[in-house]
Amino acid sequence: SDPLVDIQGISRTYRMRSGLFGRPTAVQAVDGVSLSITKGETLGIVGESGSGKSTTGRMVLGLEPPDQGSVRFDGAPIAAPGSAAWRAQRARMQMIFQDPLGALDRRLPVADQIREPLDIHNIGTKSERDARVHELLQSVDLNDGHGRRYPGALSGGQRQRIVLARALATKPDFLVCDEPVSALDVSIQAQVVNLLVDLQAQLGLTMLFISHDLRVVRQISSRVAVMYLGRIVEHGDADDLFARPQHPYTQALVSASPAPGRRSTGRIVLTGDPPNPAARPSGCAFHPRCRLATARCAVEVPALTALDDRRQVACHLVTGPQSQTRDAA
Ligand code: SF4
Ligand code: MG
Repeated sequence: SDPLVDIQGISRTYRMRSGLFGRPTAVQAVDGVSLSITKGETLGIVGESGSGKSTTGRMVLGLEPPDQGSVRFDGAPIAAPGSAAWRAQRARMQMIFQDPLGALDRRLPVADQIREPLDIHNIGTKSERDARVHELLQSVDLNDGHGRRYPGALSGGQRQRIVLARALATKPDFLVCDEPVSALDVSIQAQVVNLLVDLQAQLGLTMLFISHDLRVVRQISSRVAVMYLGRIVEHGDADDLFARPQHPYTQALVSASPAPGRRSTGRIVLTGDPPNPAARPSGCAFHPRCRLATARCAVEVPALTALDDRRQVACHLVTGPQSQTRDAA
């Protein structure tokens, strides 16, 4: 079936000054990312901070232009921000970020903020908007009483539900969630993720779900892309990828975050510095931390290569069909 979102080779470079008197240098945040997201599926992007996953999400929404490459939404290129075509697209693509308090206006009752996109996009009559706000509050397991409160009078989890209700107001087809539960208590995280899973199924939403947290990505995604320093290093079906990670980096991430009910056998400890986009290592950017690195890895960038029709890996050592000896299960 056709992808709703088609991302072809997008890259993004920032000018960044290192230190007070340092010259601005070019920092490559995202380097040649290609992904497609099929209608109704949730694609997870997982990676440490500095992996380029948020920048990828912003480019997909048209909030930042890629330096290279293209993004198509439902067959059409992302329109120029501010144009009428972009506003029409934006009603169909919404986003949720990590900090719900930052996304809300502290001086307005939250129901007014849920209503705002309906006002902006001029959807429905006044009474239809009232009814829609009521329905949206219910869809995120809140009521009109919550709607009359100000953001400061709600818990973090309730605030993120409000942000979600607002994002759903225009009945979008596509939702980008960037670390949507990272600021919440672990017990609340599961509730919000379960709500997202339910709403995704009910509404047939297509989602891009970005997180550093494997547990959360595992819970919600049908496919997963693992990013490291701006590149995709592994990509495949979520269950299979977590059960049989092939890239040494994914193997380390998975071994540090075992599936519920499964014992971590032979935990691989990630050593070395966390990824720093301002100091990207040569060759395979993961090589200073890779326990399997060879001399070749420091000089040659491994291409993202299909192992079979469901899995892609960028590692010089992973070339053939998925081997049983690498089976982590
Ligand atoms: Fe490790 Fe080399 Fe594979 Fe990179 S290419 S993940 S350094 S073995
Ligand atoms: Mg981020």
